[in-house]
Amino acid sequence: MDVCKKELIENDKIIYDLIEAEKKRLNEGLELIASENFVSRAVLDAIGSTLINKYSEGYPGRRYYGGNEVIDEVEQLAIDRAKELFGCDHANVQPYSGSIANLAVYNGVLDMGDKVMGLNLAHGGHLTHGHPINYSGKVYNFAQYGVDKETHLIDYDEVLKIAKKEKPKMILSGATAYPRIIDFKRFHELAEEVGAMCMADVSHIAGLIIAGIHPSPFPHAEIVTSTTHKTLRGPRGAIIMCKSKFAKDIDRAVFPGMQGGPHNHLTAAKAVAFKEAQLPEFKTYAAQIVKNAKALAEELMTQGMELITGGTDNHLMLIDLTNSGITGKDAENVLGKVRITVNKNMIPYDPRTPFNPSGIRIGTPAITTRGMKESEMKAIGVWIADAIKHHDSEHKLESIRSEVCEMCKGFILYD
Ligand SMILES: *Cc1c(COP(=O)(O)O)cnc(C)c1O
Repeated sequence: MDVCKKELIENDKIIYDLIEAEKKRLNEGLELIASENFVSRAVLDAIGSTLINKYSEGYPGRRYYGGNEVIDEVEQLAIDRAKELFGCDHANVQPYSGSIANLAVYNGVLDMGDKVMGLNLAHGGHLTHGHPINYSGKVYNFAQYGVDKETHLIDYDEVLKIAKKEKPKMILSGATAYPRIIDFKRFHELAEEVGAMCMADVSHIAGLIIAGIHPSPFPHAEIVTSTTHKTLRGPRGAIIMCKSKFAKDIDRAVFPGMQGGPHNHLTAAKAVAFKEAQLPEFKTYAAQIVKNAKALAEELMTQGMELITGGTDNHLMLIDLTNSGITGKDAENVLGKVRITVNKNMIPYDPRTPFNPSGIRIGTPAITTRGMKESEMKAIGVWIADAIKHHDSEHKLESIRSEVCEMCKGFILYD
């Protein structure tokens, strides 16, 4: 973020100023978007490196372009570290994003039209888990499972029932808005029972898994995808991990199947983030994410807010605003006014629309990176509840905003 680079100021003052404005926004507000985080300066330095210049289609030792001896070392290091970190047979570190990683897996192990099962977007799944407007839902024949109507938890018996009826070739687990533990072992057992492959998308919880706070999808899932920029706290991008027998299919599906030249600066940044994630400090960090989420959930409920499933086991929570007199979209706007950034989100069985749903999603990975702990969570819980309660009072919102900014001054992130 430290872009006080003379050349950028001289060449493009407009962009320089916008970067500085974004830095100020990050420092002066609270980033509670569950999928976001703040990378280290070491990761930023790798992203901003000259590795961005090189074409290196192919894989280490097998490239279509000359001059890749250095890039080979970078990519191999990222692969080795990913394998060690997650304890998997094979890793592909080239995917440009989580969405592309998922499509690459489908491309690698499925035929068009194959039956797949994934969690419904409206119940916490991801667009690429078979939503009809996404490429995944257009090309493959997805049968979607949801969460239980009463508990809002995944009902594994129900998933098995659907699987027996649909006979999918692959069952996909993983979510973007599920506040509880996902039982990857159970998913594997029920997939085996119907003869389906088992894939897990751990994008949101990868950092918690590495730290041993959320159960690992290994050795259960055959193929695992993850973004590298959420709780894992690396650069924007993704990885695919799998058992040896799928290694060739996965690599071929990424390149030449789906992508062109890998983004080597991001590969290097992934390697740096994986190294950081191996340190004991990362375990402490990931544990604090969950402690903070639980403290924030507790305070929100004390303040009378309703949480889906009554709390959280991971880094995120979903607030059900149905009885609060305000929609998810309006709550996102009101909280924006007090410098608390969240996103509107569907809640399970939401009668409203995705563009103006009944809930908001809140996560603690980014504010935990800033060093905030349980006592700050208590204050944030009160501010969120107050802002929603008093959403019509400009005066009240102004006073919350100044309290938020005051607290943020003690947690400067990028200077
Ligand atoms: C974020 C996310 C993705 C998509 O990642 P992008 O890098 O935004 O494409 C895929 N799956 C899950 C479960 C996610 O949470």
